[in-house]
Amino acid sequence: MRPPLLNPLFAPVTSLAGVGPKQDKLFRYLLDRSETPRLVDLLLHLPTNVIDRRARPTVREAMELIGQVVTLEVTIDRHRPAPPGRSRAPYLVYASDETGDVILTFFRAKKDYIEKLLPVGETRFVSGTAQIFDGTLQIVHPDRVVDAEGLAKLPQIDTVYPLTEGLAIGAIRRAMTQALAKLPGLPEWISPEVLRRCSFPPVAEALHRVHEPRELTDILPQNPFWSRLAFDELLAGQLALALVRAQLRRPAGERNAGDGHLRHKIIDALPYALTPSQQQAAKAIADDLNQPLRMLRLLQGDVGSGKTVVALLAAAAVAETGKQAALMAPTEILARQHIKTIAPLAERAGMQVAILTGREKGKERREIVEKLANGEIDLLVGTHALIQDDVVFKALALAIVDEQHRFGVRERLALTEKGDAVDVLVLSATPIPRTLVLTYFGDMDISELREKPAGRQPIDTRAVPKSRIGEIVDGLTRALDAGKRAYWICPLVEETDSEDHAHLTNATKRFETLQRRFGERVGLVHGQMKGAEKDRVMAQFAAGEIQLLVATTVVEVGVDVPQATIMVIENAERFGLAQLHQLRGRIGRGSEASTCLLLYHEPLGEMSAARLKVIRETTDGFRIAEEDLRLRGEGEVLGTRQSGLPGYRIARPEVHAQLIAQARDEAVRIMQDNPKLKGERGDALRCLLYLYERDEAIPLIGAG
Ligand code: ADP
Ligand code: MG
Repeated sequence: MRPPLLNPLFAPVTSLAGVGPKQDKLFRYLLDRSETPRLVDLLLHLPTNVIDRRARPTVREAMELIGQVVTLEVTIDRHRPAPPGRSRAPYLVYASDETGDVILTFFRAKKDYIEKLLPVGETRFVSGTAQIFDGTLQIVHPDRVVDAEGLAKLPQIDTVYPLTEGLAIGAIRRAMTQALAKLPGLPEWISPEVLRRCSFPPVAEALHRVHEPRELTDILPQNPFWSRLAFDELLAGQLALALVRAQLRRPAGERNAGDGHLRHKIIDALPYALTPSQQQAAKAIADDLNQPLRMLRLLQGDVGSGKTVVALLAAAAVAETGKQAALMAPTEILARQHIKTIAPLAERAGMQVAILTGREKGKERREIVEKLANGEIDLLVGTHALIQDDVVFKALALAIVDEQHRFGVRERLALTEKGDAVDVLVLSATPIPRTLVLTYFGDMDISELREKPAGRQPIDTRAVPKSRIGEIVDGLTRALDAGKRAYWICPLVEETDSEDHAHLTNATKRFETLQRRFGERVGLVHGQMKGAEKDRVMAQFAAGEIQLLVATTVVEVGVDVPQATIMVIENAERFGLAQLHQLRGRIGRGSEASTCLLLYHEPLGEMSAARLKVIRETTDGFRIAEEDLRLRGEGEVLGTRQSGLPGYRIARPEVHAQLIAQARDEAVRIMQDNPKLKGERGDALRCLLYLYERDEAIPLIGAG
């Protein structure tokens, strides 16, 4: 049960004045929530910038400050409403000071409202972004218009938040002020030592100072206010992981690795030799399975490094003792990909495998579930469908979770709870720098597959401006005629009318133009297609019936068609480094040389250029991950702050890397001193887990 103390923070934002059903939608979008956000979500939406209203330039000075927010003291000269019948024309207000004129521009404005806001002949303080229009200073939709009295009440430093279309900055600020006023007195959950060592302020002070800064620097992520909140978030994450780990690490009963007879058969059936790191990983896993403690191991390996076969060997070790294994993947495509690799090998070894996703229904599903309960299935591969209540194993001993950081604590546990003392193996294809492994996985044993399987050809990666798309298509024609297979990746599926995206090509449109050229040889997959439909197209591509596959990032993870040797990534400048790397990992998987073409839209920004350069220079996922961190760090300096850690709202790897280890240490100490979270400190920590939505871990306290 959530501590009642927190209730005010979990009130919906719609309980605030000025936030109605229309804003509800916008706030959901802004705060990335599927349901009405709560005040806590709003408060954890931190400003990205500040406006300094202490400076008061003249109109002439403001002409030199284009693109910046300026606050001007001006006299209102005249109004020019939109001509009748032309409601789309702007309403213009002409104003001036002794140095020049400024035009205040309003779209879809109500005449009465503007007349009241800006009465002719009066002096007003107007704040907004300086622009130039036809040689005259212009402010479109000033974000503040006040008289002298109003000015005295304005914050001298105003916050700027990441915005969403239709939601004005003022609306966010007004909601924020109300939310801050509702902040209850929160207990301190950080230990006095850490508070002292890091000079952290109390949480309430931290929230107030980032949302109501007194100095321009108050909102910087590296300063104590933001850092305190980042530490809270990281501590909540580490504590939740530690609670899960304590639960999973309970001593195990019988051990789970057999005599090796199935594993030998599988290895004999492989058309290739295992790489040394695959062998090491398989051995480490078998050793874990024989230990009296339950296994908690991360198998990390770049795309194409061959994790699936290692996972299969782990499952085989368990099957040798007559027990069962499950492999859960986050998407349908990934699950099918696994079964495709696994099934023929398992068959040769005489191991029974099956797949269960949302698509197996009716009789088919009933049969699978029945066989599973009878112990006739050794390894069940699937999606979330595996954790449904009626999926019961006879003797589940090993849970393999692919791309675990996409799953929540609840899902991970739900799978391990389907057996006794289940061993856990996590597969991650996302190369994560070591510092960040901790954030997502906590303290786990790690096996890494660092070398690529032998015989892989390097990928030739080039960046090409989009203006040369004609040449690319010509080249593609020759390649397809020669029997090659290619991916064409587009960033968006849906039609969008936002101007910012006007030059983005949507996959459907690109498919249509390419189809005119290549006819039947082109196929399309995107995230909005039905599972069966997606699989059909993927299968056609794998079989070579389709040679050119236009796709969105649905092919990002796990898709394995070794014959594909060409990838065109359109609007490559829009993708993050990790994503580009994942995408490119779909090619270079066979014995033929591959080519990756990064089509970019000109002009190329500094950050995008840097990203494309890294991707051109290396295919080492770990190096790319590290460069990514470094570039994001620079992104701060360049003023284009990138989004932080997936699943984390406040902590930023490039700024708070130090805090990750400290939060881990703090979580370890808590688990040593007070694993049941008792007493005052325990209550405070429970509050923390609720605030950062890690409360799924709370029911584990006291269990076992
Ligand atoms: P990952 O899941 O790590 O991205 P996969 O397990 O899907 O990689 O393996 C990618 C491809 O490499 C598969 O086609 C697989 O059969 C093949 N493969 C795996 N291990 C080896 C190896 N040691 N030598 C050659 N090919 C391998
Ligand atoms: Mg894989």
